[in-house]
Amino acid sequence: MANPTPAQVTFNEFGLPVSTAFDDIYFTNEDGLAESQYVFLQHNDLPGRWQTHPRARFVIAESGFGTGLNLLATWKLLLQQAPASLQLHFISFEKYPLQPADLARALRHFAELKPLADELLAVYPPAEAGCHRCLLADGRITLDLWFGDIHEQLPQWLPGAQSQVDAWFLDGFAPDKNPQMWQPGLYQAMASSAAPGSTFATFTAAGAVRRGLQQAGYHVSKLPGFGRKREMLAGHWPTDEQQLSPPPADESVLIIGGGIAAATMAHALKRRHWKVKVITTDVADGASGNPQGAVYPLLHAELSPLSEFYLSAFSYAAQFYQRYCPQSWHPTGVLQLAYTGERAQRAAKIAGTDDALYSGATVRWLSPEQTQAYWHQLPACPALFYPAAGWLSPAAIVRQLFDGIEIETGLSLKGIEKLPDARWRLRFADGTEQTARHVILALGAGLSAILEPFGISLQNVRGQVTRVAATAASESCPAVICYKGYFTPVADGQHCVGATYARQFSASEAHQNRERDEHENLATLQDNLQQDWTSELSATANRTSLRNTTRDHMPLAGTLDTGLMVFGGLGSRGFTSAPLLAELLAAELLAAEPLPLAADLRRRLAPARLQTKPA
Ligand code: SAM
Repeated sequence: MANPTPAQVTFNEFGLPVSTAFDDIYFTNEDGLAESQYVFLQHNDLPGRWQTHPRARFVIAESGFGTGLNLLATWKLLLQQAPASLQLHFISFEKYPLQPADLARALRHFAELKPLADELLAVYPPAEAGCHRCLLADGRITLDLWFGDIHEQLPQWLPGAQSQVDAWFLDGFAPDKNPQMWQPGLYQAMASSAAPGSTFATFTAAGAVRRGLQQAGYHVSKLPGFGRKREMLAGHWPTDEQQLSPPPADESVLIIGGGIAAATMAHALKRRHWKVKVITTDVADGASGNPQGAVYPLLHAELSPLSEFYLSAFSYAAQFYQRYCPQSWHPTGVLQLAYTGERAQRAAKIAGTDDALYSGATVRWLSPEQTQAYWHQLPACPALFYPAAGWLSPAAIVRQLFDGIEIETGLSLKGIEKLPDARWRLRFADGTEQTARHVILALGAGLSAILEPFGISLQNVRGQVTRVAATAASESCPAVICYKGYFTPVADGQHCVGATYARQFSASEAHQNRERDEHENLATLQDNLQQDWTSELSATANRTSLRNTTRDHMPLAGTLDTGLMVFGGLGSRGFTSAPLLAELLAAELLAAEPLPLAADLRRRLAPARLQTKPA
């Protein structure tokens, strides 16, 4: 999907934004905040409905994010008047995202919202198509921003949002100025996404809008409009609010695995108040146990599903670590050297031209001079710089995320079978068994053998990282430097040089360090960088583990059978992809909250795509 065009705005004599394309205002010149509160909050009966809401989250969807004023007004009310335990899930669609500077300027008008506006600006995503999940208010608010035309995004969003939305804010420029948006497809999608007891409100009273909503099944009322506007519309979806509340979970979800997939999964379910039990051989004993790892998006030189997925996953991961593991997350940026002519061409396509594929907030092109200005120990070659990326301490993050979770270690899964009562029986290497109704398989390289009977073949790829002692020349390394391998900044007086990538290896080599891999790591660094200081480094330690990969390079995340989910195939990028995948699986498991990824991408992640025969 093509990336959206940023909004063209001017600021009028009141200092308020006006859309050039639509020749319309984003909010009233009189008092935009009061209008938002009157039209959207009051006429969706907020905060009244929050007091008796039967679920943990209240879900709002909006057409036209604009400046985010409606979000901020809702957020302010939530802090002031909602029960402390209530969470807010706010989804908004935007065809022409405002540039961050325009957003900041527009919101400057509302001094009382400043702390909230600052927080929004800190996570506001680049203008790239698809869903961007953002965490606000210490994780109490989930904001899903779907960038792109609402009519293109709805088919991707709706399958993951059926009967989930408690209130619709039907915004957007006036129907006569923006008829393309106000079409029956929107009202039908509103109806399909409406939870029992759902409501809507809109500033317009246009007859076509009223009839469209009625035809979609809403009960619609005309009400006095705000300020000088004569009328507006509000209404509700005709079902009983209490009828369809999901039953509370009465037993633990079993998560098998001890790495980043299992840890983010347990964390995502715990945040949703589900009981969780983790079973593993040990914590972070596989690929998630390396001393340092980089988190940055995998971008192709053309828009591809893989790039689209990693853009969404990366922007959520960076926020997730900042919010939940700030001590172990270092958002220094990541620099990727284009050390061959071919790589330089690809880098230029990705970020080097005016019509580059990705926003400058995601990735920037550096000239050879800029690369050396960034760090004088680098060669004079072009590079890509990912400003919001960074590095982390994998094992420390995994341990932190498991904090407060029940974990049983020393158990190695051997097989899993479905019982006649639809429960799952898990058999362990020590001869013990456990049963559960909900199981999530997140055991990294261990997945390959477990999934074989289900007709899914995964490949384990051996990787060895080498630690080297910092030298006077190396210790100023400011960020992870990627080339064919990677070189990390100093932690505890050492750098990490990674990583070999071997598809063929003997069983005995799977977990044993090899001298030739150590040589390979150091030689690749020297060959790609061609700098004297790289040949003065000496190895202090090595670590070998297996990455679990899929043949199409997309992770594996979804439901395999009733009550059985898989979460694996994360390759070398688990710390980038796992936080968002855990959100996806948690939402799928609960079947009670909107999903953070387009339907097309979810199909590409689902186990069914790899299944060659039924279980
Ligand atoms: N809710 C906004 C706020 O709180 O600032 C104000 C919304 S403004 C009046 C209307 C927004 O709808 C604009 O940002 C515009 O770009 C967006 N929009 C218009 N047509 C759209 C479409 N077809 N799909 C998605 N967004 C659209």
